[in-house]
Amino acid sequence: MSEKKPVIVPAIAPRRVCPVCGKASYSRTGTHPQCALARADAVSNQARKAANVPLDEAPRKLWSKPCPKCKRQIHARRIVCDCGHNFGSVPGSVEVPRDHQSSKLVRQRPR
Ligand SMILES: [Zn+2]
Ligand SMILES: [Zn+2]
Repeated sequence: MSEKKPVIVPAIAPRRVCPVCGKASYSRTGTHPQCALARADAVSNQARKAANVPLDEAPRKLWSKPCPKCKRQIHARRIVCDCGHNFGSVPGSVEVPRDHQSSKLVRQRPR
């Protein structure tokens, strides 16, 4: 007499945990419907923020310029780079303090 008892494999579904609230969820996706909605809302909120607000990284680069020699970003007011590149030697970028000279000229008396 050989009776084969059907082996019942305990089909214990692994308890899913809602990734949003961290509580056990029995839904198929593992996420509470209301939690999924809340998360979707948050994501859309972030997307809206990103769309409305432009990147804030631009103003920072305004005060730096790339060195053509070593390709490094240095302060915009620096004339000589660490590598020795002289920005003042570039034609057109030389700044002459005109105000200082003109004030001298004004002080000179015509006679
Ligand atoms: Zn949840
Ligand atoms: Zn340089």
